[in-house]
Amino acid sequence: MKCTRCKAPAEVQLRQHNSNFCRACFVFFFQRQVERAIEKERMFSLDEPVLVAVSGGKDSLALWDVLIDLGYQTTGLHLSLGIGEYSDASTDKTVAFANARSLPLITVKLADHGLAVNDVAGLTRRPACSACGTMKRHYFDQLAVDRGFPVVATGHNLDDEAARLLGNVLHWQMPYLARQRPVLQPTHERFVRKVKPLYRVTEYEAAVYAFMRGIDYVVDECPNAIGATQLTYKDMLNRLEATSPGSKLIFVQEFLQRAQPIFAAAPEEPPRTCVGCGMPSFGEMCGFCRLVRETETKRERRNAAKAVQ
Ligand code: AMP
Ligand code: ZN
Repeated sequence: MKCTRCKAPAEVQLRQHNSNFCRACFVFFFQRQVERAIEKERMFSLDEPVLVAVSGGKDSLALWDVLIDLGYQTTGLHLSLGIGEYSDASTDKTVAFANARSLPLITVKLADHGLAVNDVAGLTRRPACSACGTMKRHYFDQLAVDRGFPVVATGHNLDDEAARLLGNVLHWQMPYLARQRPVLQPTHERFVRKVKPLYRVTEYEAAVYAFMRGIDYVVDECPNAIGATQLTYKDMLNRLEATSPGSKLIFVQEFLQRAQPIFAAAPEEPPRTCVGCGMPSFGEMCGFCRLVRETETKRERRNAAKAVQ
């Protein structure tokens, strides 16, 4: 097997692109894919400071690595989520990556705000992934606005986008389909642009890139995600991909080109301003503030009950 670009012995086979690559050419190819996505979708320019949401997993660390190599101005944002040892390991890997390269990193520990994901989920009896998503979205927006970043980049890859699209289509989630894009423009003064520069590269490609670049990342899945429907969708899509290489890319790409504009055509109701935190909200109070309030009430009740015992 020879490299499609330089004819040296190839190490990676990408059936969906009908290509094989040696190490150097794969790194070039991967970075080029990301650069093209950023430029084609006008995600951000070289002059804009970008807040990169880094979890400590392969995708977001690979993204950060590529953005630095391409010369973008980046600052990392890591939320230490409070999901036991998994979160501790994620924080360690993220901090080690940033320190080794002298990169600026903002770290927020949710437990310091009384909002460790496992505590919030336990107290409110909400699914952990839903509580976690609500808090991540809130902190990404709030920190970006407060610190003057016009854009937040996440490491969502093609597998994430294809699985999300499949879920949205199976349930015909019209408002979600209207918002499933690699670039989301702000619809409120305290929202920032959200971008997904890896939306055209697969999870496998991100893992190979991270390996080739010597990036040390958390390999384990989040323990709260085990059994999640999203993983079933990914598994199904991988089986389809094995028999028809390129299926995932076509599914997402053709949706974005042909179908998404139809869903996005419906006028979106502009968000109001949350009375709790001043961030955008579709009701009087945003989902994050409602979650915080419920957590605090339940915690007080639990502590009062303990005091009586
Ligand atoms: P996930 O929702 O876990 O699939 O993660 C999707 C993307 O969200 C990652 O690629 C990161 O960019 C971002 N992200 C997830 N968890 C964190 C975290 N703890 N801190 C900062 N960013 C995160
Ligand atoms: Zn709020």
